[in-house]
Amino acid sequence: MTASENSNVVLSFDVEEHNRIEAATHLHCTPEMKADYGDRMEASTRRLLEQLAAAEALGTFYVVGEIAITHPKLVRDIAAAGHEIGSHSWDHRRLHRLTPERFREDLHKSVNTLQEVAGVPVLGYRAPTFSVTPATSWAVDVLAESGLKYDSSVFPARHDRYGIPNAPRTPFWLVGERGRILELPPATYRRFGQNLPVAGGGYFRLFPLAFLRAGVNQLMKSGAPGVLYFHPWEFDPEQPRLPLGQMARFRTYVGIEKSTARLDRLLKRYRGRFRRAIDVANEIDAPIPDFKIG
Ligand SMILES: [Zn+2]
Repeated sequence: MTASENSNVVLSFDVEEHNRIEAATHLHCTPEMKADYGDRMEASTRRLLEQLAAAEALGTFYVVGEIAITHPKLVRDIAAAGHEIGSHSWDHRRLHRLTPERFREDLHKSVNTLQEVAGVPVLGYRAPTFSVTPATSWAVDVLAESGLKYDSSVFPARHDRYGIPNAPRTPFWLVGERGRILELPPATYRRFGQNLPVAGGGYFRLFPLAFLRAGVNQLMKSGAPGVLYFHPWEFDPEQPRLPLGQMARFRTYVGIEKSTARLDRLLKRYRGRFRRAIDVANEIDAPIPDFKIG
């Protein structure tokens, strides 16, 4: 068996209401808007569950902790369908806005609440907006000491809001001052001498899917998983638009009407290859590199 036959694709979903996106942090949302985006988040997530079930694909859902309180049935249903529940923080604040102590509390609260509500262990974490960066490298020790099995918050690419371009593109040990944690980085495509962040976002909604597939295929050839990420709101073309500036508006909504069909193409293309991130994490047996931020 070649390495590529062993390698997998991880479909991951960051489950948050649309008003929690980074571009909207400065906006005021009325309680009515928040409730509407909450309802829409649940409906979109349920449509995704149906789409994945039809393709017999399992994935990982990184859920904002507060959603376990506001939408407990949804969280239980995701777990009951066999998908992994991971933590996507308590209330979707980027790590830049926390201290190590506050992050420890945030992580503990989100993991415990999700576990209690879902009735399954929570062993993986993804920071809001991939906010494990050189400015928040203190977070590594908090993660290492958390008891979690893995993290998926380091984007090995250059981006205006996140990214560590020199981090490995394949699974690695993220090393802190006192400990380390397994890191499953989102997929990138090594091209033109740099790592293109093809795992989701604009590369999923704006560019031809060929870019995303090229990155995933490149990783699979080296025996590494292709970790992709999506948000339920990206599959809700009818949702009321947030009053964003022109650039943020474009980046947020471009291609949104095609997302469901595009996901279907990916589900067909990689049928039989989908694994939950926790399964990929548990099966890593070969040595992987160490990487320390900064
Ligand atoms: Zn998020």
